[in-house]
Amino acid sequence: MEVKIPLSVPNLRGRELELLGECVSGEWVSTAGPYISELESALASYVGAKRAVACQSGTAGLHLALLEAGVKPGEAVIVPALSFIASANPTVYCGAHPIFMDCDDSLCLDPLKLREFCERECERRAGGLYESLSGRRIAAIEAVHIFGNLADMDAISKTAADFSLPLIEDACEALGSRWESGPLSGRYAGTVGDIGVYSFNGNKIITTGGGGMIVARDIEKLEHMRFLSTQAKADTVRFIHEEIGYNYRLTNLQAAVGIAQLERLEEFIETKKRNYELYLAEGVELLPFREGTRPNYWFYSHPTGSLERREKLMAALAERGIQTRPIWALLNTLKPYRGERAYKIERAPRWQESVLNLPCSTNLTAEVVRECARALREAERVMA
Ligand SMILES: *Cc1c(COP(=O)(O)O)cnc(C)c1O
Repeated sequence: MEVKIPLSVPNLRGRELELLGECVSGEWVSTAGPYISELESALASYVGAKRAVACQSGTAGLHLALLEAGVKPGEAVIVPALSFIASANPTVYCGAHPIFMDCDDSLCLDPLKLREFCERECERRAGGLYESLSGRRIAAIEAVHIFGNLADMDAISKTAADFSLPLIEDACEALGSRWESGPLSGRYAGTVGDIGVYSFNGNKIITTGGGGMIVARDIEKLEHMRFLSTQAKADTVRFIHEEIGYNYRLTNLQAAVGIAQLERLEEFIETKKRNYELYLAEGVELLPFREGTRPNYWFYSHPTGSLERREKLMAALAERGIQTRPIWALLNTLKPYRGERAYKIERAPRWQESVLNLPCSTNLTAEVVRECARALREAERVMA
């Protein structure tokens, strides 16, 4: 059966076409143009950062973040086992190795195991923290806010500080998520660690087709990432380069779409929240978002209980044209990463087998959400 209700599709009914038209008629389509800096300012002000740097994708942003954090070939970066592979790949782009860490029941990086690992499996030497087993320097910690749910950044940032490790937030899925109580109250995903990265890929909460944004606590470092993203031109007239740069800059066309999307971000979050609550009201169990936060409700996670049930539900819904998706395979089990260290991955496999993501696009009407919920409950009844 063809897909009638897709899992997650963009919503482009704002000023996207109008602003794109202005790019084309003004002939500012590439990596210079007024919309790029306008989007940077608008996003920085939205998340409460001083400044932001636009880039070509979340993956490119994470690569720049790791380079800026000082990740060198042969070193190690702590990353979650349960995430999209783009959380880990930039480590390899730097010639470094991921060390895979378990999740807690928020699906995000387990702060207790993280601390335990730093305390028991590493040693402090001149120059930093070293993994005892491999002798590799731990160059950074990367926390990911899975599905828009905030990681326990209070605990994670304490560990990062105690061991003097740079902390990078992969906030690719979490633009707009913020703390509403506790020590981080009022802070947005991406602005707690040293560097935060957002994605504007097609299925993210706002999209530019492809794109991303970087924020950082240290403005000099942020500006250096901007420099690296634009081919590291030391002299823009004579083409003098003293470092290896990248062609990672967002284009004005993409930024135009981004501005129109950002204007609607709060509306998207309201819709996602409303539909999340509607699924619950219709009797569908969904994993909660962290208490004391205002998440962006990007993806809805239905815990099916087992791999077998998950696969059956997915097939039953597909028969009705409803597209669902299992959570990612654990990164430490994937071919490129099988040889890497994975520290006590115990909870992630359970969630990995159980979680099914349900349709969550912002253009879903209440009627369609009810249809998905009814189809799911019906499929579960048949299986019981
Ligand atoms: C989407 C995503 C990325 C990568 O972003 P792109 O813009 O697609 O490169 C990285 N990490 C996570 C957790 C993501 O969901």
